Amino acid sequence: MNKIFVNGNIVTMDPNQPKVEAIYIENDIIKNIGSNKEILNSKDNSTEIIDLEGKTMLPGFNDSHMHLIDHGLSLNKCSLVNIYSIEELINKIISFTKDNCSDWILAEGFNQDKFKDKKLPNRYDLDKISTDKPIFITRTCLHLGVANSKALKLAGILDHIPEIKGGEIDLDNNGNPTGILKENAMKLITEKIPTPSKSEIKNLIIKSANILLSKGITSIQTDDLNSVNGLDYKDIIKIYKELINENKLPIKIYEQCRMNTIDHLNDFINNNYNNYNGNEFFKLGPIKLFTDGSLGSRTANLREPYHDDNSTKGISTCNQNELDKFVMKSHNIGLSVAIHAIGDKAMDKVFNSIKKAYARNPRRDVRHGIVHAQITDEKLINEFKLYNVIAYVQPIFLNYDVHIVDDRIGKNRAKTSYAYKTMIDNNIKISFGSDAPVETFDVMKGIYSAVTRCDLQGNPKGGWLSKEKISIEESIYNYTMAGSYSSFEENIKGSISKNKKADLVVLEENIFEIDKDKIKDIKISMTFVNGILKYKNN
Ligand SMILES: [Zn+2]
Repeated sequence: MNKIFVNGNIVTMDPNQPKVEAIYIENDIIKNIGSNKEILNSKDNSTEIIDLEGKTMLPGFNDSHMHLIDHGLSLNKCSLVNIYSIEELINKIISFTKDNCSDWILAEGFNQDKFKDKKLPNRYDLDKISTDKPIFITRTCLHLGVANSKALKLAGILDHIPEIKGGEIDLDNNGNPTGILKENAMKLITEKIPTPSKSEIKNLIIKSANILLSKGITSIQTDDLNSVNGLDYKDIIKIYKELINENKLPIKIYEQCRMNTIDHLNDFINNNYNNYNGNEFFKLGPIKLFTDGSLGSRTANLREPYHDDNSTKGISTCNQNELDKFVMKSHNIGLSVAIHAIGDKAMDKVFNSIKKAYARNPRRDVRHGIVHAQITDEKLINEFKLYNVIAYVQPIFLNYDVHIVDDRIGKNRAKTSYAYKTMIDNNIKISFGSDAPVETFDVMKGIYSAVTRCDLQGNPKGGWLSKEKISIEESIYNYTMAGSYSSFEENIKGSISKNKKADLVVLEENIFEIDKDKIKDIKISMTFVNGILKYKNN
C-alpha cells in the first residue's frame, strides 16, 4: 500500500524541512517529503493520490496526560456540566434515563457554584427522579457526591451511620443522612455500583479512542490502572493486552502506571511489568503518583497559605519519605516517574526526591516528569531545567483557572505560574495534554488556550498573564514532538519526517492564518494512524 498526499500546507515539526507540499508513504512509514514534483516521482500504478487542496496537515496529536477509561465510563453517565439549577439537574437526568436502561443512574460534573442559591442537591431532590433505581451523582471536582434514598439504602447508610476515615456523611438536624457524601464516604456508594464486565470495558476503550481520532489524536498517555472499582492494575493491563492481540486498539496508548502504595510498586516490579514492552499500540510508561489535590478545591499543596483561605496550605497526599522511596525505587531500575503536583510545595517535594535519586544514581536514561506543574516560580523553573524534568501541562485548564488563580494564590505567586513561555525559553520539555475527562481533549481548544490565554468565551481580553502566551507552532510541537519524547518515541513519531510512522492529521482550516479566537472551533478533516484513514469529517 502506498499513498501520495499532494497540494498540502504540510507543517512537519521537523526543523530540517519545516514546511512541504507533498509526502509519500509506504504502508505505515513516511518514505519521503518534499515538493509536489519531487514526491510525484515516486508514483506507480498502485499509488493512491490524495489531493489535500491546500489544507493544513500536521503530525497526529499526542495527548500526554488523560484518563481514557474514565472518559469511556463517563460516556455512560449523564453530564451535568452545563446545569444552572437543581430543577434543571433533575430534568436533565430524567431525560437521560429515557434512553438508558442501566440498573444504576449515574451522573457527573455538576457545580453548585453555578446555581443561583449555590445550594447542593440532596437525596430528596434525586428521589424526584426515581425511588426504585439507585442514583449517584458527583460534583465536577470528584471530591463530593450525592446519592438518592435507594442508593443510601443499598449502601446500608439508612440503617447505620458508619465512622469514615478521611470522609464525611452529611446529616440533617435529626441525624438523618442528606445524601451528600464527601471524599472517602463516597466509596460506601461506589463500591455498590456493579463493576462493568471485561467486554464492556473493552468496548468503552474502543468507543473513546474513536472519539479521540475525530479530534486528530493518534497517541495518548493515559492513567487508568486505578479507574475501575473492583479491578486492579493487572486486570486493566490484561484488558489492554487482549485488545492489542485482537488488533482492536485504534490509537497508540502509553500507560502512565498509577501506583497508590509502595507495596503496589513492589508487586508491579516483582511481576516484571517494568520489563513489559508490548507493541506500539500499548506500552507501559512511567509510574504515576499523586502528591496533592487541585487548585479549585484548595487541596493543591502550597508553601504558604491560600490567599482566599488563610487557614489552609492544601493537602499533601504523599509525605517526603514515601515519595523518596517511590522515586528512588523507580529510578534505580530505570523506570521514569510522572508525578501529579500542582502546588509549589508539592513540586518542591518532587524535586527533593528526584535530586536524591540522581545523587545516588546519576543515570540519564530515565525521563521523569511532573503532571500539571501549575504554581511555579524561578526556583522551580530552574529545577525543571537542572534535572531535565518534563512538564506535563494541560493548557485547557486556563479556561477555568484564569478565573480563580489570582483569588486562590494572590497576584504575586500567580505571576510566575502557568509559565508556558518561560518554560519553553528555558528549554524545558513541555508536553501538552488534557486530563480528560476532567477537561475536553479537543486539541484545538488546547492550542487556543495556550495561544490566547483566554477562557473559551475570550476572557479576559488580551489574555491572562499575556507574556506567557506561546505561538501556534510551539503549541503544535507540544502536542506532537514533545509527547513522543515523553514516551521515548521521538525517533519513531511526532513529526512528519522520513522513516517515521505515518500518523497524520488534516485540518479543515489553516490554523496559522485563521483569527486566533476561531482556532478553538477548527474541525478535523482526516486522521491517519500508520497510514490508514481512521477518521473522515463528512
Ligand atoms: Zn489526571
